[in-house]
Order: sequence, then C-alpha cells, then structure tokens
Amino acid sequence: MNVHRRQIVFFSLCSLSAFPGAVFAASMVQESDALARTLAYVADTTRANQIDYPSHTTDQMCRVCTSFQGNPKDSSGPCKVYGGRVVSAKGWCSAFERRPQSDANAANASS
Ligand code: SF4
Repeated sequence: MNVHRRQIVFFSLCSLSAFPGAVFAASMVQESDALARTLAYVADTTRANQIDYPSHTTDQMCRVCTSFQGNPKDSSGPCKVYGGRVVSAKGWCSAFERRPQSDANAANASS
C-alpha cells in the first residue's frame, strides 16, 4: 500500500470513529422520517391510526410482513420497503402484506 492509499484509509477510519452514532442511528427507521410518515409507520402496531386504516388489526406487525427481512424472533430487522433500513418487529405501516400463513405461524409462535 502506498502512502497516498494509507492516508485515505487512515482518514476514512478517523471519520467513522468520530461519528459512530450517526452511522448506526441512520439505519433505524424513525416515525418522523418522510417515507415513514407517508406510510403511517409506527414502531408499535397498537398505535396504528385506526381511523385512517380501519382494516388494521394488532396482529399485523412487521415480523409477519413479507417485506421484513430480519429473523421474526428478533426485536427489529431490515425492511425492503425502507431500502433495508431497520424497523421494529412489532411495528406496522400501510404497506403491510402478511406472509403466507405457515411463515406467520412460525413468527407468532416465537413472539
Ligand atoms: S412494509 Fe412491512 S415490514 Fe416494512 S415497515 Fe411496513 S409493515 Fe413493517
């Protein structure tokens, strides 16, 4: 590795170590995020807006949604709709689509 490449690696590592919280905080979807507001995302499905989404039920949650890419047993995981950013497994948004029943049963058994 030449000196120039070493300097780039050094300054990149320094930048990451200076703002470690910013790197991780950016990966979690916040209810206040623009897309989250558009899709009425809530981190807890029991707080979903029943007036605007009357067909919502509290058994609809991220861990049983087709877009949830994490392990249903975990408290959170990446969501395809949010570009892989992390959502709460107990969350919900208006893009919810239930997994096939066999997968959903496995997820519910673990919660
Ligand atoms: S698309 Fe599914 S997994 Fe993603 S936030 Fe909405 S309900 Fe949760």
